Amino acid sequence: SRPRKLALRLHPYGEGRLLVLSRDVTAVEQAEVMRRDFVANVSHEIRTPLTVLSGFVETLQSLDLPKEERTRYLQLMGQQTQRMQTLVNDLLTLSRLEGSPLPGAGDWTPVVSLLAQCEQEARALQGTLGKQLELTFAGPEGVSVGGVASELQSAFSNLVSNAVRYTPSGGQVVVVARLAEDARLEFSVRDTGPGVAAEHVPRLTERFYRVDRSRSRETGGTGLGLAIVKHVLQRHGAELRIASAPGAGSTFTIVLPATRVRTEPVRPAGSAA
Ligand code: ADP
Repeated sequence: SRPRKLALRLHPYGEGRLLVLSRDVTAVEQAEVMRRDFVANVSHEIRTPLTVLSGFVETLQSLDLPKEERTRYLQLMGQQTQRMQTLVNDLLTLSRLEGSPLPGAGDWTPVVSLLAQCEQEARALQGTLGKQLELTFAGPEGVSVGGVASELQSAFSNLVSNAVRYTPSGGQVVVVARLAEDARLEFSVRDTGPGVAAEHVPRLTERFYRVDRSRSRETGGTGLGLAIVKHVLQRHGAELRIASAPGAGSTFTIVLPATRVRTEPVRPAGSAA
C-alpha cells in the first residue's frame, strides 16, 4: 500500500508531558494535487486558443491583407472562439453536476426520443466532419427512463458523438437501447474506430484525459465529455461499461438501474388511444 502522510500536533499535557495528536492527511493532499492539476489543465486549454487568437489579431492589424485572406483569418478566429466557448460550457456543466444533490424521481423520457436526438446530432456531426459512416439506431418503443432528461440526453449524446468523432470514414456506429432481463436498460454505442488500449480504459473518464490529444482537438474535443458522462451516471445510480481494444473498435454501454426504467403497459389492440 502507498505511504500515508500524518500531520502531528503537540500539546502540553500536565507536568512535563506532551499530548500527540495525529491526523491522516493523505486524502487531503491528494485532493489538493488533483485540484492543482485541474487548474493547470484548464489554464493550458484556454491559453492555447488565446495564443492563436492573439497571433491572428496581430497579423490582421499589421498587414494590409487582401480581402479573401482576411476572411480566412476571421474564420479561423471564429473556430478558436468556438472552441473556448465549448470548453467553458463543459466546465460549467461539470461544476454544476459535481456540486448538486442527486436528482429525485425526475421526469420520464421515452427512450425513442433520446435515440432520435442522438441520431440527429450524429448525422449533423458526421456532415461537419466530412465523414461517411454507417449509422444504425435501434431501441424499444414504450420504454421511458427517469431522471433529469437533459442530463441523460447529454450522457447518451456524448457517447454517440465520440463514436462518430473517433471512427474513420467508411466505419460503422451501432447504437442500441435494450431492456435487460433484470429490467435494467442498456444503452450501448459500438464503433469500428481505433479502440483504446487496456491501460488507458480506466482513466478515460478523468477530466482532460485523452489517449491522443491531437485527434481529440481536431474533432472538437474538450477532454471533458466522458467526465461529464461519469458524473451524470453517478447521480442517476447508473454505470458505464467500456469494452475496447486497439484495432477492434469500442463499445461504451450505459446501464440504468430498474428504478429508472418504466415500461408502458401494452394497450390491447383496437382500444381507443
Ligand atoms: P474528448 O473531448 O477528448 O473526446 P472525452 O472525455 O469524450 O474527451 O474522451 C476521452 C478520451 O477517450 C478521448 O480523448 C479518446 O482518446 C478516448 N475515446 C473516447 N471515445 C472513444 C471512442 N469511441 N473510440 C476511441 N477512443 C475514444
